[in-house]
Amino acid sequence: MENKAITLEQIQNFEGKYPKQLWYLFLSEMWERFCFYGMRGMLTFFMVNQLMMKDDVANLQYGATQAFVYAFTFIGGLFADKILGFRKSLFWGGLLMIAGSCILAIDPKEFFFLGISFNIIGTGFFKPNISTMVGSLYKDGDNRRDAGFSLFYSGINIGALLGGYACIAIGKNYSWNLAFGFAAIVMTISLLTFIFTQKKLGPIGLSPFKDDHKNRKWYEYAVYLGSLFIIPVIMTMVAKTQYTDWFMYTIGPATLIYLFYEMTKYTWIERKKLLAALVFIIFSILFWAFFEQSGGSLSLFAANNLNNQMLGVISLDPNGVNNAANSLFVIIFAPIVGIIWLWLSKRRIEPNTVVKFGLGFIFLSLSFYIFFATVFFANAQGITSLDVFTLAYLVITFGELCLSPIGLSIMTKLSPKPLQGVMMGMWFLASAYGQYVAGILGAGMSKLNDGATLNEKLKAYTAGYKQLAIYALIAGVILLLISPLVKKLMQEVK
Ligand code: GLN
Repeated sequence: MENKAITLEQIQNFEGKYPKQLWYLFLSEMWERFCFYGMRGMLTFFMVNQLMMKDDVANLQYGATQAFVYAFTFIGGLFADKILGFRKSLFWGGLLMIAGSCILAIDPKEFFFLGISFNIIGTGFFKPNISTMVGSLYKDGDNRRDAGFSLFYSGINIGALLGGYACIAIGKNYSWNLAFGFAAIVMTISLLTFIFTQKKLGPIGLSPFKDDHKNRKWYEYAVYLGSLFIIPVIMTMVAKTQYTDWFMYTIGPATLIYLFYEMTKYTWIERKKLLAALVFIIFSILFWAFFEQSGGSLSLFAANNLNNQMLGVISLDPNGVNNAANSLFVIIFAPIVGIIWLWLSKRRIEPNTVVKFGLGFIFLSLSFYIFFATVFFANAQGITSLDVFTLAYLVITFGELCLSPIGLSIMTKLSPKPLQGVMMGMWFLASAYGQYVAGILGAGMSKLNDGATLNEKLKAYTAGYKQLAIYALIAGVILLLISPLVKKLMQEVK
């Protein structure tokens, strides 16, 4: 079989900084994120301007969609671990995403929720599993892994930047059918990239079943069919946001019970590592709940309270800056941060993952303090500095880089192999809760009377950001305080 041509040993014994397979996964993920963030950037605008939803309804709807997207990564990870393997999951997820984007391209208004539901399930099969495969390129204890995930994370953000900018521009200026169709084309490029390069992955991501397993095909068909049958259910649930509440109340506890059940099958050493992974997952919920203000309250803040002057030399649309600054900073700084970790690790002073997470929260806190501090730069009308706002995005990006790529990496280090997909899914499930809580926090901040002045809005939002800065600082300090305990749970993993 061609897949046997290259062995795991050969892949993992690569020379240099990055395995070459990382670049292939990087490209597939980059185009997938182009499609995903292109779609994400269009949703709220499309709902308000084309489906004529009220702002608050569209916001809730948007939050529900994002929560479902990330929640389904758990299910995608689970089925990859147990039945499909990562490669088939990726293939199936990619196909569903292409189908969803094509449905939207045909008639976005009529088939809006149908197309979105295809994309939700498709992302669920694609997103966690490509990240897990990146982890498989490295041997246990290879200190180049975090740098690899940092590079992979740049790919994510190149896709996010291009897609986030291009799709909405096409939609606004030409046609929405074309914009969604464009996402379908790009997703096809992602899938083709994967199909043509997957041979190089050797045994990574193949089916968990033995070749001669007699019911393997049936299990696989059951997953494919099951995921198609669930689409109408998702459609109903996304369309009514109160169902999202119920869903979020159940999926978290259910996955925890499942994880504890799985843990019973492992030794104490492995269980302790899984508990450490759980600590990271729980803190990441809080991180994303604050961070994801960017799609909600910060975009309204940008629309209302910012001038359009960047460094006094160029005028930029504040919402454009709100959408693009983070991705751009990640692209610039992810490689640099990756190099810093490598440099520190060579000198044996690289901070442990818990400390990196703690730092992530300290940067988060500082950035929200800067968002709050925009209040001191406002003019009499309540319009404040785009420069200071952008500075906050620079700082939040450092927080993200201390937590998000490291989080992907640590999930693959702390989980026993048969649970890696599920744990990656749980990592993204935390993002689902983050998105969900972000909506609630943002709605809390924006409780203003109709006709509130820009000054009142500025005060309300910045007061909210100050609160978030304090909570993020508390979370960071708690993490640093419990770091010895978590380190113990992690044992030899760094
Ligand atoms: N921006 C990153 C991505 O799209 C992380 C998203 C998240 O985990 N919430 O992969």
